Amino acid sequence: MTHRVLLLPGDGIGPDVIEQAKRVLSRVADIHGLDIAFEEALIGGKAIDLEGQPYPESTRALARAADAVLLGAVGGPQWDGLPAGDRPERGLLAIRADLDLFCNLRPAILFPELASASSLHSHLVAGLDILIVRELTGGIYFGEPRGIHVREDGIREGLNTDRYDESEIRRIGKLAFEAARKRDGRLCSVDKANVLEVTMLWREVMQDLSSDYPDVELSHLYVDNAAMQLVREPKQFDVLVTGNLFGDILSDIAAMLTGSIGMLPSASLNSQSKGLYEPVHGSAPDIAGQDLANPLATILSAAMLCRYSLRQGAAADQIERAVASVLSHGHRTGDIAGGNFTGATLGTAAMGDAVIAALDEA
Ligand code: NAD
Repeated sequence: MTHRVLLLPGDGIGPDVIEQAKRVLSRVADIHGLDIAFEEALIGGKAIDLEGQPYPESTRALARAADAVLLGAVGGPQWDGLPAGDRPERGLLAIRADLDLFCNLRPAILFPELASASSLHSHLVAGLDILIVRELTGGIYFGEPRGIHVREDGIREGLNTDRYDESEIRRIGKLAFEAARKRDGRLCSVDKANVLEVTMLWREVMQDLSSDYPDVELSHLYVDNAAMQLVREPKQFDVLVTGNLFGDILSDIAAMLTGSIGMLPSASLNSQSKGLYEPVHGSAPDIAGQDLANPLATILSAAMLCRYSLRQGAAADQIERAVASVLSHGHRTGDIAGGNFTGATLGTAAMGDAVIAALDEA
């Protein structure tokens, strides 16, 4: 069986980090006897320059045909002057909508060696491994009616609508229960069910679903308490599931717990487990093309691609073990070389080499 993987390097450091992730995927495919066919297409600023739009038709056709998409990053100062509707970031919104990617997975993993990069005490975060599951295509960001209008009394009013129907809640809930089942078997659903009806329904549906997953322990937290617990004792969590707005905020809190933007992967999935995998960081134009970018967030995104879209858990585990091993041997790119680190830092390609060498031992 051939797995079709579409690479969208994008702008800035995107091509630098995608090149290393492709090398790692190729090596892991050899080890596990997987047949991965890579294709490559344009997105973002480069697509605007060459095709006149950030998500061209040729890219759309390949993305729809692929089993999974691995993206670098989009954007840069040369496109900042364009109107909001024509900017490189529109390419990201377009591909998410086109592939109906309603489920965003953001792991916050802090390798023990990097614990000093966190803003919290090391003992609170060393070894942190949580997963935030965020609904991505519904809720208050998309609900109608919305807008700013002038009322009859002449006062301007802004309005948004938070809404979910039970099928939308059920499909994200199922993915969260499945993810918890593959991990430590604990799922915390985050809502504001003491105030908001939309999240009362959210809680009811999560409770209904839990009878299908007797092996997963379901708990509930109000979002204000969840935010406090994330900075008080983050290691108490395994998987958190929540709606679009709360997920946006909580996943950024969780990202800050790790302190290293160059280390954070993400995945956005549709109901057929097709996914868009990308590092959380942007295109870092300040270091693009200089062999300075940390490729580990993209390499860890490639591991998620193996786990969720190719269903190759052993290959995913092996990539993650290789990254852990590289860090434990003291290899660092410049962005994660703070604290007590005194050795020489590695460039982007050398970090890719180190992960590939570690794969053979992992
Ligand atoms: P950024 O994440 O690109 O960079 C922030 C800082 O972190 C910079 O100093 C950068 O050098 C550093 N950094 C980021 N990734 C790194 C890596 N892998 N290795 C080493 N250092 C790294 O955020 P920004 O500066 O706010 O945005 C730059 C451009 O990226 C903008 O055009 C923005 O719109 C775009 N952006 C794109 C995405 C995306 O494609 N998903 C996300 C965020 C920002």
